[in-house]
This record gives sequence, C-alpha cells and structure tokens, in this order.
Amino acid sequence: MPPAGSSAVTDTALLFDRVAIVGIGLIGSSLARALTEYGIARKVVCADRSADACAKALELGIVAEATTDLAAALAGADLVVLATPVGSFAAVGEAIGPLLKKGTIVTDVGSVKQATLRDIGPHLPDGVHLIPGHPVAGTEHSGPEAGFASLFQGRWCILTPPPGADRHALERVTEMWRRAGSTVEIMDANHHDRVLAITSHLPHLIAYTIVGTASDLEEDTKSEVIKFSAGGFRDFTRIAASDPVMWRDVFLNNREAVLEILQRFTEDLTALQRAIRWGEGEQLQDHFTKTRAIRRGIIDAKQA
Ligand code: NAP
Repeated sequence: MPPAGSSAVTDTALLFDRVAIVGIGLIGSSLARALTEYGIARKVVCADRSADACAKALELGIVAEATTDLAAALAGADLVVLATPVGSFAAVGEAIGPLLKKGTIVTDVGSVKQATLRDIGPHLPDGVHLIPGHPVAGTEHSGPEAGFASLFQGRWCILTPPPGADRHALERVTEMWRRAGSTVEIMDANHHDRVLAITSHLPHLIAYTIVGTASDLEEDTKSEVIKFSAGGFRDFTRIAASDPVMWRDVFLNNREAVLEILQRFTEDLTALQRAIRWGEGEQLQDHFTKTRAIRRGIIDAKQA
C-alpha cells in the first residue's frame, strides 16, 4: 500500500529501473521495501559485506538480488544508495568509484552530511551525480529484519546537494523520497550537521550518558532503576539502545558541531545545577515552562 497522504497512487511511472542499495540494514531495507511496494523502482538489488544480511534480505523477499560483490550489484544500476555506517563511506566510495557508469545517480542516507561530500565525492567519476540525503526517520533496531516500508511516512528527508549538482538528478531523488512518504527539505551540508547536532546527536549522547551512569550504580540500586524505569529513565534506554557502530561514526564525523553544542549544553546544565543548589525555584520553574512550550510546538507541528 502506498503511504497515506503521498501522491504515489497517481504517480504510477517508475522512477528508476535498477536501484542498488549498499548496506541492507534498517534504513537500506526499509527503502528497498518502499521502492518495491510503492512502485518507485522496477528492480531493487543490494550489496552488503555481511553474507548473513544478504541471505536474510533474499529470504524476506526485500530485494531481487543480494550479493557481497559490489560490482555485481552496481552493474546497470541507474541509482546507487549508500546505506552503510558513515565511517565506512571513504572505503565504500573508493570501491564504487571505478564501477559507476556515466549518468548514474549516487545518494546516501548517512546521518552526517559533510562526511558524504568529503568521503564519497572525490571518488566519483565525471558524469556521475552525487545527491547526499538523510531521512530523518529510524528506530533503535538494526539489520534487514528491522526495516519496514512505511518508516519514512510523514517524516522529513533532508537533501544536501553540493553547489552545481545536477538539477534532474536532484529532482529524481526528491521525487523518490516524496513517493516513499517523506517531505523533502534542501539544505547546505554544514547547516544540516549543526541542526542535527542539537536535535539528534546531543540527545543520543545524553541518553548514552544517563544509561551508562545507571549501569555503574551499586547492584541493589540498579535493580530499582529497572523496576521504576517508567519515571523517565525508560525513554532514555530506548534511545541508548541505538546501534553502537552507527553512533560511534556519527560522533566521530560530526565532531566540531557536537563539541560546540555540548559546550553550550554543559554551561546550561551548570546554571540549572546552581539554581538547585541555591534554591532558586523561580529560575527552575521559568526554565521548565519554556521547555514545555517547545514540546507543545512539536506536537502542533505533528512531529511528536
Ligand atoms: P544497520 O542496520 O546496522 O545496517 C548497516 C548495514 O551495512 C549492515 O548490514 C552492515 O554489515 C553493512 N555494512 C557496514 N559496512 C559496510 C561496508 N563497508 N560495505 C558493505 N556493507 C557494510 O544500519 P542503519 O541503522 O540502517 O544505518 C545505515 C545508515 O543510515 C547510517 O549511515 C546511518 O547514519 C543512517 N541512518 C540511520 C538511522 C537510524 O535510526 N538507524 C536514521 C537515519 C539515517 P555488518 O553488520 O557486517 O556491519
């Protein structure tokens, strides 16, 4: 079924003939499912370094072909989607460069966008069009079993085309995400990385910290942490269960923006710490009132 609210019902023409997805994990397999189920591509194939992931993708019927051989997957592809962790992009870029034919569109789903330009861009031959992308959608699960076609429905997808990017290629990648159910926003890669540092990367770092702190507690306290987790802790554990490799790569590849936002966060935390120490209730209440309004804004924007 096409996603509600998308125009996939009326847009029946196939956008791509053969799409090769490199990395058939949560995001790669979700996109593969959407491309097939919503009639966006004629044939979807994948390459993954994990033979198990390939076997699983075939068994689940997510792709028509699955292989650990990049050349076999990329042969004849008019769209290549890189869906491996950001830290693998330089090696993947180097490996796919010589395999790409003129006119191929290359996109990615990486959570950091300057890294795509830096690590993939230099390896692409002339006439191959790079349109970096980031679907702002996901779960804490990994692997091909975790994916589902409607993952991108009602979510943002940010594209960060470099200056001078091919207009036609940009239109096709935009249309692909639109038909997968997303609203597309075009942004400069540097701006993307700064925005995501506060909206996604810092929250993950905080969750990893809180859950790490709890796991270091004494054994008796630890059991009560689990028992009474509904008090707020549980929400952090979901985020802190996100893929360790993916998040390692996000922090290593968005270092400057994350460190800058972390500095500001630390200052604000110290201010709250001070307010608690000195019993400044009014300051605490003002702060919590301000943050409550942000939550209401998110609900109004239907992003809750
Ligand atoms: P995932 O479920 O862990 O899947 C990644 C897949 O790529 C795995 O099968 C992995 O194999 C494979 N892989 C790793 N290195 C490779 C290489 N060099 N060549 C070929 N295959 C390789 O990851 P994911 O959550 O889908 O994330 C994929 C990308 O989407 C990342 O760049 C991430 O930043 C981005 N993203 C993720 C989310 C999210 O919430 N998860 C949201 C938006 C964007 P192994 O198992 O052998 O490592």
